[in-house]
Amino acid sequence: MTSNQNDVDDLATLEVLDENTVTDQLQKRYNRDQIYTYVGDILIAVNPFRSLDLYSSQHSETYTSAKRTSFPPHIFAVADIAYQSMVTYNSDQCIVISGESGAGKTEGAHLLVQQLTVLGKANNRTLQEKILQVNNLVEAFGNACTIINENSSRFGKYLEMKFTNNGTVVAAQISEYLLEKSRVVHQAIGEKNFHIFYYIYAGLSEKKKLVHYKLPENKPPRYLQNEHIKMVQDFMNNTFYKTQFDLIEQCFKVIGFTMEELGSVYSILAAILNVGNIDFTSVASEHQIDKSNIANPSVLENSASLLCIQSDELHDALTSHCVVARGETIIRQNTVEKAADVRDAMSKALYGRLFSWIVNRINALLKPSQELSEEDAGYSIGILDIFGFENFKKNSFEQLCINIANEQIQFYFNQHIFAWEQNEYLNEDVDARVIEYEDNRPLLDMFLQKPMGLLSLLDEESRFPRGTDQTLVEKFEDNLKSKYFWRPKRVDLTFGINHYAGKVLYNAAGFLEKNRDTLPADIVLLLRSSENNLIRILVTNPLTKTGNLAHTKTKSRINSQSWATQKKSNQNKGDFLDARHPRESTNMKTQTVASYFRYSLMDLLSKMVAGQPHFVRCIKPNNDRLPSKFDREKVLVQLRYTGILETARIRQLGYSHRILFANFIKRYYLICYKSYDDPPVSSECCASILEKANLHHWVLGKTKVFLKYYHVEQLDRMIKSLV
Ligand code: ADP
Ligand code: MG
Repeated sequence: MTSNQNDVDDLATLEVLDENTVTDQLQKRYNRDQIYTYVGDILIAVNPFRSLDLYSSQHSETYTSAKRTSFPPHIFAVADIAYQSMVTYNSDQCIVISGESGAGKTEGAHLLVQQLTVLGKANNRTLQEKILQVNNLVEAFGNACTIINENSSRFGKYLEMKFTNNGTVVAAQISEYLLEKSRVVHQAIGEKNFHIFYYIYAGLSEKKKLVHYKLPENKPPRYLQNEHIKMVQDFMNNTFYKTQFDLIEQCFKVIGFTMEELGSVYSILAAILNVGNIDFTSVASEHQIDKSNIANPSVLENSASLLCIQSDELHDALTSHCVVARGETIIRQNTVEKAADVRDAMSKALYGRLFSWIVNRINALLKPSQELSEEDAGYSIGILDIFGFENFKKNSFEQLCINIANEQIQFYFNQHIFAWEQNEYLNEDVDARVIEYEDNRPLLDMFLQKPMGLLSLLDEESRFPRGTDQTLVEKFEDNLKSKYFWRPKRVDLTFGINHYAGKVLYNAAGFLEKNRDTLPADIVLLLRSSENNLIRILVTNPLTKTGNLAHTKTKSRINSQSWATQKKSNQNKGDFLDARHPRESTNMKTQTVASYFRYSLMDLLSKMVAGQPHFVRCIKPNNDRLPSKFDREKVLVQLRYTGILETARIRQLGYSHRILFANFIKRYYLICYKSYDDPPVSSECCASILEKANLHHWVLGKTKVFLKYYHVEQLDRMIKSLV
């Protein structure tokens, strides 16, 4: 640790601590390529936007079982601290990485996994390899190029690495949150679809692409068209995409997917692209003027053949739907618009479910080969990489969900840093100045409370047949009596929320539809008749535990009864089967996106609070993705809303270690007593040890010793030299 006041690794040690000093320090360090800085036990990482020589095996070794203050701050040190805490205190750990889009969360998560596999010295090299491939694989399906980040994660990810009692890594498990499925059918200007679509175009062999997967070569599929891509050639011959394709295929194989599974995955991706190309024309009919017909029957044929279903049945499911009225089933024709909506809903559902299936399958393949015995089953380290707070020109349902998740994470952070810290001081009668902070609890309540919270109101309106986005906003306004909610104009669909990170205006257009996320029953039933095992799995709730194709072989014959018969027998079950997340199993309480979201947020939180938290705060130094450019204003805003400034203050005053008298004496009594002594458990004994060690500024509470981390390092050093 450098002692110079003007150059410190830990900002919590600064005597003067205000916005300017913190920003100055970060800027100075950044200019010297010191992108990592501590604030107490929190790591700040400023994105360098260029590759630095910081992650070699040499570095990895340096930060293995290292003392935190011996080496410059580093992301590997966070992995090391989490690992050491897990092994020493026998408890689960959780590393939360936060920051806005493009700040470096995902890169940070990769580096943590990389270092943890080294620390967890997987004696099984294959497992180590598999774990390292997981991120690449899910990111090929879940990341996309956006205007902010060329490799932007469009889903949230919680990766748990499991270790035995002696600290050997034995398994990994991923949970995914809120995949942005709408990207499959539509991308904003300047943005692209999920990476994997471009990879298959560039990577599959010519013959396979044309003959087997029926991917057109003259014009990009509708779902991949944007202002930059006029020709298939623009991405087909892209060598980067081609290399990525080979890499991803390798990932699939290393993790243990079968060739059959791989083939099905490609078929479904190709099917989605073909489905997207189906065009509809309007035809006049006697009863209805605007019924729809398919304009390009050969594309319909291709789609049906890739989905392994009958093309006439696909035709019917897209252009018509059944309604049950007064006990009678009537077939209604779809307008061109409605038919296109059904087509896109099918594509989104297929992709979303394929993604969940891949994640489930990875989890099954990365389970320990034998169930661990009770004494071997150790602890886990979870890494949370979730989209940061978003505030665009136009904010919709997706931004609302993301921002609620961020409120929840901020709450957890506050709880950890401020509330628990202060509570402990109070309980122990330790005098610590009470530090003011912005508690976002009331805002979280406004979102999550039942039955009058925003999400509950949204669900209520979604179930109400005559509900519209307009009635929804009015419902919000009538019921959410909170200073965090406001409506700028009564007439339109805009409403505002005062988030911890700033004010955001949302537009409620499409909220009800997005929340219902329904897939017409006709489509579900049709896909259940597919001859492709994987497609059938995707539309059958719940997913089997292993998601393994082999397990469903025998059932396939029974399931693939004609769609028509199934359709008949299901007619009375209502017009829509919902396209919920497949993991929801049969729990019918979770029906809408909002309620599933609430459920997964709670699930995530329960995992997080069970463990000891570690925080990595990523900072984006400029909006242009440029190296060596430090935009002070931009950094300051991020420091403010991530609570780093308050953190620095509380850490400076605070004690990072609090140890029960008994544990303290057991661990350190040799510093002051003889080995055969049996000192009583008392604060006096603790004081004697601390005085003997010549330490200052520690505090004794009612039951615990309060220490700064450098005290602990000093005590450990002394004990080591004694034994
Ligand atoms: P986020 O997940 O927060 O949106 P990413 O982790 O995808 O952001 O980072 C965006 C880009 O920034 C990366 O593609 C990479 O180019 C760059 N980057 C991030 N972290 C680092 C790092 N530690 N070293 C070098 N470049 C980085
Ligand atoms: Mg990311």
